[in-house]
Amino acid sequence: MTAPTISESRMISGYAALSNSQPLVPWQYKPRPLGPNDIEIKIDHCGICGSDIHNIDSGWGPTQYPVIVGHEIVGQVVAKGAEVQEHSVGDLVGVGAQAFACLKPDCNKCQRGHDVQCPRMVLTYNMPYPDGVPAQGGYADAIRIDANYAFRIPATIDPHEAAPLLCAGVTVFTPMLHYKMKAGDRVGVVGIGGLGHLAVQFAKALGTNVTAFTTSETKREECVKLGATQVVNLRDTDQSQAASESLDYLIVTTSSVHTDWSQLTSFMDVYGQIILLAAPETELKLMPFSLIAKNVGIVGSLIGGVKEMRVMLAFAAEHNIRPWIETLPMDQCNEGIQRVRDGKVRYRVVLSN
Ligand SMILES: [Zn+2]
Ligand SMILES: [Zn+2]
Repeated sequence: MTAPTISESRMISGYAALSNSQPLVPWQYKPRPLGPNDIEIKIDHCGICGSDIHNIDSGWGPTQYPVIVGHEIVGQVVAKGAEVQEHSVGDLVGVGAQAFACLKPDCNKCQRGHDVQCPRMVLTYNMPYPDGVPAQGGYADAIRIDANYAFRIPATIDPHEAAPLLCAGVTVFTPMLHYKMKAGDRVGVVGIGGLGHLAVQFAKALGTNVTAFTTSETKREECVKLGATQVVNLRDTDQSQAASESLDYLIVTTSSVHTDWSQLTSFMDVYGQIILLAAPETELKLMPFSLIAKNVGIVGSLIGGVKEMRVMLAFAAEHNIRPWIETLPMDQCNEGIQRVRDGKVRYRVVLSN
């Protein structure tokens, strides 16, 4: 047995939301006991995901405060439980939005590879473990996590740049794997931000023809650099009309409440699929015939499981897919959050200890 190398009495320090929509403040919590399948990670970097802000704001329902958000975590293994085989102390690993699933052969979801939907799944923060202790995330100096949900970071990926792959990256790549997107497919991406700028890169690397949809004319050149063949300004009627019936898939990464769903469905060719990755804090409104008339589907997709995470990291390493990031020290997390709220980030903030 490898004994944990750290004291069981010490506290984990981070930045927590104590109530709705307030700035984060320094806060400490006593970590869960290190179980036989757990590891402890000393956190080096954590990306700021849009979900972090929805949770700080209780935008998707009441958040359980205090909460340390953050689920694009990269750091070093500093302790491991007796039964952990895959990781060694000193390994560089990443953690995404999921902290646990049972992964048991008798689990109807896990045995089919749907561990994201495991009834025992625990999110990285704002969700209790079965023992009632809430999970806490990555705007902190450390985290304890089930070893199955820590992923070895390929040596060729810079640790700062690895962080956004762990939620944004796997979230956009998972539906591409599921729908087997391939060369010749016509793939649109709406919202060129943290998720979207990675979606364009992954779709391009798969050989698809990529159209980037944005409301920000200033992103046009960057969209082309990311790999888009076409760039459509959604506010330009001529450009939008020219894109009608041009897509097999449309990956929606914006959670804006102003999204015009009739406009988005107009871009779909027959049997096109609209894939929803980001969740607006309101109901989604559209006319049924905008789907029925062209047999268009609208589906959701939630993060990615163990298998998708491994495939994604290997694919990103091989195809040189790298988030475009801005870095800030962890103690400036509130400044980083404000930049995201203001829509100023190109394209992901990564906090570093
Ligand atoms: Zn996320
Ligand atoms: Zn399960």
